[in-house]
Amino acid sequence: MTATTPTLPDSGRLPAPVLPPARLYVDGRWRDTESREDLPNPATGDGIGPAPVGSAADAADAIAAARRAFDDGPWPRLTPKERSVRLGAFHANLAGRAADLVALVVAEAGSTVAAALSHQVSLPLQHLEWWVEAAAQDRTHSLPPRVTGRSDGTSWLGGYVVRHPPVGVVAAITPFNFPFFLNVWKVGPALATGNTVVLKPSPFTPFSALVLAEAAEAADLPPGVLNVVTGGPEVGQMLTTDPAVDMVTFTGSDVVGAAIMGQASPTLKRVLLELGGKSAMIVRADADLDLAAATGAGHLTFQAGQGCALCTRHLVHASVAGRYTELLAARLAAVRVGDPADPTVGMGPLIRAASVERVDGYVAAARHRGAEVVVGGRRPPAVSGGWFYEPTVLTGVDNAWPVAREEIFGPVGVVIPFDGDDDAVRIANDSPFGLSGAVFSRDAGAAYQLACRLRTGEVNLNGGAGVMSADAPFGGFKRSGLGREMGEQGLREYCQTQTIKFHAG
Ligand code: NAD
Repeated sequence: MTATTPTLPDSGRLPAPVLPPARLYVDGRWRDTESREDLPNPATGDGIGPAPVGSAADAADAIAAARRAFDDGPWPRLTPKERSVRLGAFHANLAGRAADLVALVVAEAGSTVAAALSHQVSLPLQHLEWWVEAAAQDRTHSLPPRVTGRSDGTSWLGGYVVRHPPVGVVAAITPFNFPFFLNVWKVGPALATGNTVVLKPSPFTPFSALVLAEAAEAADLPPGVLNVVTGGPEVGQMLTTDPAVDMVTFTGSDVVGAAIMGQASPTLKRVLLELGGKSAMIVRADADLDLAAATGAGHLTFQAGQGCALCTRHLVHASVAGRYTELLAARLAAVRVGDPADPTVGMGPLIRAASVERVDGYVAAARHRGAEVVVGGRRPPAVSGGWFYEPTVLTGVDNAWPVAREEIFGPVGVVIPFDGDDDAVRIANDSPFGLSGAVFSRDAGAAYQLACRLRTGEVNLNGGAGVMSADAPFGGFKRSGLGREMGEQGLREYCQTQTIKFHAG
């Protein structure tokens, strides 16, 4: 496999992003759109370049192409090994331009260089390698043969073969915060299992999806196997209602996820939903407070707090809550906020001006109710241009308030004290979401026992969060989603199950 770890040029400076064609990719061909927009860089507000804006008609054509490619084309009929080889070429093309992808994600999504190098680009390329290998495996298996008696006293030998064919045409709809990463997370497993795909990225980050179209073309994937249509909700509506689509795989907010379930229900599509979170980090009295504060600060500033699995509710044992808050505030006050193209910057912008307004609205409402702003709570006065907000911590907050209950999707966290493990579990689970969580304790057994009581799809112990592994399932309880991505379970989401019964005499 090609090495997937991008590096900066010797100058240490990020190159200007190389943009993919400002066109859609449908049925193996590039096509112009009626409309285009000059896509803004969230760090400056300046245009990155013209981006295509697709329409519902474009989506309908892409669905028809994906349908033809599934019903009549070679892709679902290739052997697993053949498909793996083609997917390997797709991976190799992307891996070969990893450094360009870093520059693109920094410009388009406002990611810091460090986060782009690691999580935004390297990690999904590693995961894609896993899907390339997984694609080569034939998951067909047989059940043990059995002898069954007939009423006339004779018997027959029979058996069962269980196959896992692809679901069909998959509509993949993704958000803006990890654009390349999440597009790969949809396209990788869907193609590995023999489906055909129409990918619709967030209108804020179209280029990171069009790069996949370039790779599909370079890898000579058959026409219609991967189609990319940019645009907004009207494109998403078409993808989730057209009867020719068999499955919708969606990552985004719980509100849009719920709407998509409704849109997809008349045609009974399979839905895979990866939604929002309001994750709790529990810091026990026996925790390493420096480690907890460092991790907590990372959760509030990573991708400017625009991450589904970030811990934004810091539940801290009352005996150490004051000290923890001091350590956390000191770390956040030291974070350099600014244009993330500068590798020394620790936190970049929010995606659009409206996001800054929304974040500030949550902070103002909490203040109004009596919360104390320990650090942050404003736009950084020294940064001009772009859409920034300071890393912010609030105390004196009730877990029932919107600031502790709703997904803010910005660099804002709350510190809430608790009295003992039962109290911590009660507060942590008192949330409409259930995506992620964390526990800090020097007692590893106690930390594990606490983790088992949390109603969330994952729990990270003592900062063991960080890296997501391709074979570890990821997904949410409650309003955080339905189904799982990653691992064998994630692949099965994109497969049907067919039992063939046979009679051997
Ligand atoms: P969003 O829900 O606003 O939009 C996501 C996508 O849905 C976009 O492509 C959008 O154009 C499309 N869309 C909007 N309305 C639609 C409709 N009616 N039908 C079909 N498509 C429609 O999300 P966002 O603001 O781009 O991203 C932030 C959200 O994503 C947060 O809630 C975050 O927690 C979530 N997220 C979840 C995960 C996860 O793995 N669980 C990962 C990243 C982000």
